Amino acid sequence: MSTSVSRGASPVAPARQPRLTVLSGPSGVGKSTVVAHMRKAHPEVWLSVSCTTRKPRPGEQEGVQYFFVDDEQFDKLIANGELLEWAEFAGNRYGTPRKAVLDRLEAGEPVLLEIDLQGARQVRETMPEARLVFLAPPSWDELVRRLTGRGTESPEVIERRLAAAKVELAAESEFDTTLVNTSVEDVARELLALLR
Ligand code: ADP
Ligand code: 5GP
Repeated sequence: MSTSVSRGASPVAPARQPRLTVLSGPSGVGKSTVVAHMRKAHPEVWLSVSCTTRKPRPGEQEGVQYFFVDDEQFDKLIANGELLEWAEFAGNRYGTPRKAVLDRLEAGEPVLLEIDLQGARQVRETMPEARLVFLAPPSWDELVRRLTGRGTESPEVIERRLAAAKVELAAESEFDTTLVNTSVEDVARELLALLR
């Protein structure tokens, strides 16, 4: 009689590649910058475009960074079950359109979500096979510098985002992997390796 104890998946089951990757981290840490850098070299990497009630920043385009919707439209997306997850973040709502993500996953293609901590927690509940990646700043002071230096938010909004950042940083251990955004190039390369 065998005395070995097997844990986890059956040994005959093929190893399962995590196909859904979630990138989270405090506002201003550099998530968009890192993803944009990676996709410049690898445009084939598919990034889910979220819906948001936030107003576009200068240069942001409909359907590129976000689908910009009003509160009523966002309510309808929730009511119709069209969002895979959604959250309120610093006074605005953000959500991941469900269908586009599921279509890609069904086709066996890797999917990248760039969402906040609350969204990452929802994805972990509904899709436990997802890989959760936390992007951390080199230091708190550097995070403040980046968020302020971006120059896209009022001092009041920066304060709200920094308050959220404290909560997000405290949740780092909930993630499978942490990448520290010291160098955009290095982190983009590391993220690409995780996606594959
Ligand atoms: P997020 O998408 O996480 O809110 P952004 O990508 O908008 O953050 O980056 C916030 C600011 O930090 C931007 O001005 C960006 O140019 C800058 N930034 C991003 N990564 C780095 C880095 N590794 N070193 C220095 N500045 C960075
Ligand atoms: P920003 O306004 O700076 O573009 O985004 C604010 C925060 O919302 C960031 O942490 C970003 O990752 C998050 N976010 C963007 N899209 C989504 C989404 O679809 N769902 C959730 N939960 N968060 C999102």
